[in-house]
Amino acid sequence: MSKVTIIGGGASGICAAIVLARNNNKVTILERNNMCGKKLLVTGNGRCNYFNEDFSIDHYNSSNKELLENIITEENKKEVLNFFDSIGIIPNIKEGYYYPYSNQAISIKNSLETELKNLNVEIIYNTYVEDITKEDDKFIIKTNNKCYISDKVVVATGSKAYPKTGSEGNFYDILKKLGHNIIKPLPALVQLKANTNYLKEWKGIRTKVTTKLYVDNNFIKEEQGEAQLTDYGISGICIMNLSSLIAKYLDNKKRVAIEINFYNKINNIDSFIKFMDTRNNMLKNRTISELLEGMINYKLANLLIKLSNININSKWSNLTDNDRKTLATNIIKHRLNITGVNSYDKSQTCSGGIDLSEINLKTMESKIVNNLYIIGEILDADGECGGYNLGFCFLTGIKVGSNIK
Ligand SMILES: Cc1cc2nc3c(=O)[nH]c(=O)nc-3n(C[C@H](O)[C@H](O)[C@H](O)COP(=O)(O)OP(=O)(O)OC[C@H]3O[C@@H](n4cnc5c(N)ncnc54)[C@H](O)[C@@H]3O)c2cc1C
Repeated sequence: MSKVTIIGGGASGICAAIVLARNNNKVTILERNNMCGKKLLVTGNGRCNYFNEDFSIDHYNSSNKELLENIITEENKKEVLNFFDSIGIIPNIKEGYYYPYSNQAISIKNSLETELKNLNVEIIYNTYVEDITKEDDKFIIKTNNKCYISDKVVVATGSKAYPKTGSEGNFYDILKKLGHNIIKPLPALVQLKANTNYLKEWKGIRTKVTTKLYVDNNFIKEEQGEAQLTDYGISGICIMNLSSLIAKYLDNKKRVAIEINFYNKINNIDSFIKFMDTRNNMLKNRTISELLEGMINYKLANLLIKLSNININSKWSNLTDNDRKTLATNIIKHRLNITGVNSYDKSQTCSGGIDLSEINLKTMESKIVNNLYIIGEILDADGECGGYNLGFCFLTGIKVGSNIK
């Protein structure tokens, strides 16, 4: 029997503890909060989207993305789903997104905690780990209270994202001191900032869009979904899914812009103008504002007309070719220069972290320090919205648990 100490009682740490205890290890969790799984409660808007049917590396970012093929596999997908069966979670699957059938994140937290209790896992709360060192094959774990000694240590402290739930990122430096390479952490799944002068006017609008990411004018990636227009820039799942890449490009001083299509049934300027000609012939005597009614949000339509330097009472037939092109461009190829991303306080996850090439992805053991295991969001892998981040955290927890016997 090994004495295993897990640092951090979040999704990955709890999951590791359960599987380790089932494999007859003596497990202790050291958690700085007065409870485990604080972050789980805020996931999926309080409903916890814990997994996704489409568990493939296409939904992940990492500096070593190809290595993820060793862990994001069909076999491992079954292991995660079996784990949830084993703690009594019945899934409610909506378009591939897994939620607990109760639709309550607390069901996941409570079911995990019940299992921890039944397996007699020791949890020491209000204990902040300040450092770990290794002496004669034993780890010395220094905390704000006292020192602990352990044969094996699992680091599950999360990233810097959403620090109010306990994850503040002090383990990047500790693991660096132990010899690990850290890929620069940056906020991910986070809102985008812009500094154009009309943001106050579009604040509060929610609208269906297609967004294309351009870096130094080169097309990179496209996303579709609902965007929320804000007074600092733009938000929404489709926007946040681009944010991990965007934060990295901005950090490398690249010019980043997104092109937004506010009427994504049409994606070509000439086709849009033809469509408006036909609409104008059919709906006679309407102003441009009236003609756009029902196509795009009313407040947004008027702003886009204004930004095109066109009077909202003008008729389509009275516009010059140039006016039509400008308006069409503002509607279906609206360019927004991105100046930044919101901070860790607002970000759901974090890109960068511990270099995956230094981890044995079958066991999650460090290749640098024997008997040290690193799991969850602190690793250099971040996923899109949709259960991919929790899916990865739970999987890495299961991997550790199944491999320390
Ligand atoms: C608002 C929000 C919504 C989200 N929604 C979803 C979703 O629906 N689906 C999805 O897949 N993902 C979602 N995520 C992301 C997901 O929650 C995280 O990726 C995941 O919880 C990370 O798990 P973890 O175990 O690595 O770290 P965490 O859950 O952050 O746990 C780390 C634990 O370690 C403790 N700790 C940290 N440092 C120390 C230390 N030095 N000493 C002792 N203890 C320490 C912390 O207190 C914490 O309890 C969301 C995130 C946020 C913020």
